[in-house]
Amino acid sequence: MSIYSDLGVPEIINACGTVTRLSGGMMAPEVAEAMRQASLACVDMVQLQAAASRTIREATGAEAGIVTSGASAAVLLGTAAILAGLDPARMNALPDVPDGKREFLMVRSQRNMYDKALVVAGARLIEVGIPDRYSGPGVRDAAPWELEAAITKNTAGIYYLAGAQSKPSLRDIATVAREHRLPILVDAAGQLPPTANLHRFLDEGADLVAFSGGKAIGGPQSSGILAGRMDLISSALLQMLDLDIYEDAWSPPAEFGPLRQMRGLPHHGIGRSCKVGKEEIAGLCTALKRFTSTDEATRRATWLARLQRIAELAGGEGLSIEGKAIPILNVKTPDLDTAMALARKLAAGTPAIHCGLGRRDEGIITVNPVALTDAHAEEIGRRLAGR
Ligand SMILES: *Cc1c(COP(=O)(O)O)cnc(C)c1O
Repeated sequence: MSIYSDLGVPEIINACGTVTRLSGGMMAPEVAEAMRQASLACVDMVQLQAAASRTIREATGAEAGIVTSGASAAVLLGTAAILAGLDPARMNALPDVPDGKREFLMVRSQRNMYDKALVVAGARLIEVGIPDRYSGPGVRDAAPWELEAAITKNTAGIYYLAGAQSKPSLRDIATVAREHRLPILVDAAGQLPPTANLHRFLDEGADLVAFSGGKAIGGPQSSGILAGRMDLISSALLQMLDLDIYEDAWSPPAEFGPLRQMRGLPHHGIGRSCKVGKEEIAGLCTALKRFTSTDEATRRATWLARLQRIAELAGGEGLSIEGKAIPILNVKTPDLDTAMALARKLAAGTPAIHCGLGRRDEGIITVNPVALTDAHAEEIGRRLAGR
C-alpha cells in the first residue's frame, strides 16, 4: 500500500525529466529520511538556514546561501534583495520602489516564462538587443556595449538566464556590470549537471545565482537554492522570514552578519509566499551533499544504462541516444501524427508513461532517464516493443 493508493491517485512513469507538472523526480531514501527526521523536532529557522548556508558555501564557493521554495522563489527573493538591499523601508515598500531604481536589464533573446518572478518582486524588465541569430536574417545577438548603453539612474541590476545558447557570455556582461557596480542575478535553475556549474556562474561574475532543488540535485520538489554575496543573501533571507518579533530579541548569526547593521526590521514582506519549511531545508542539504559527492561519470553511466536497457527491450528502428550532460533516448516515428499517436498510447496504458514531446514536429518522442527507476525502464522497453 502506498499513500497514492490511499488517496486514489494512480502512479505514473515520468519519462519527461523532473518537470513540475509530473511531480518532479524521486528522492533518494536518505533525503526522504532527512525530511522525516526534520519533521520530528522544532528548530530556529535562522539557525537552520545558517547551517544550509554553510552547506551551500561548501558546494558552490559562494559567500552565503539559503534554501528557498524553488528556483523561481530564489529569483524572486534575489530580485527583492537587489531592489531593497539592507534597508527595511525599501523592503516594506516592495513591490513598489519609491525612487524608481527598479530596472533590470536583460538580453531580449533570454526572455522566458520564469522572468515573471522579477516583476512580482517589483522589477521592471528592460530588454536589450535584437535576437537576429534566432530570426534568421542576421547572426548577432545583444552585445555587451548595448547593455552598457541601456544603463540609466534607474538601473538596479542585470538578469541573466544561463543556458548553452545564452549570449553574450556571462564574463563579458560581468565586465560591464563591474564597471557600473551593478549586481548580476543568474537563473541557473536547470544547469545541473555538470556539478562544476555550482561554482561556474559565481566564478564568471554573478552576484547571485538560483538553482532548482527538485531537478538533478534530487532534493524536495519544492526546494531551491539562492547563493552569492552575503549582504544580498542576508537581505533575501530576511524578506522570507516570519518577523513578528521585537528587534531587541533578534540577533542574526555570523552567516548572515550584514543583518546586524540594519536600522530596524521589516514586516512580513514580498518574500513571505516563498516560505520554505524545515523539512525542505534538511532534504535539500542532504541531497546537495549527495549530488556533489557522486561521481559525475557514474551518475551519467546509470542514466545511460537505463536508456540502453529500454532500447534493447524496445528493439526495432529509429532509436538513438544523444549525448550532453543528461543522455536522452529519441524514438523516431514517421511524422508528427504517428509520434502523437504513440505518445497517447503510452499515456493511456497502465501505468501511464509520459514521454517528452519537445521534438514532436520531427516525429520524435523522447525519454529522459532522470525521474525513472530501473523497473520503469523495463516497463517502458516492453511497452515500446509493441509500438
Ligand atoms: C525549472 C526552471 C525554473 C523553476 O524552477 P523551480 O525550482 O521549479 O521553481 C526557473 N527557471 C528555469 C530556467 C527553469 O528551467
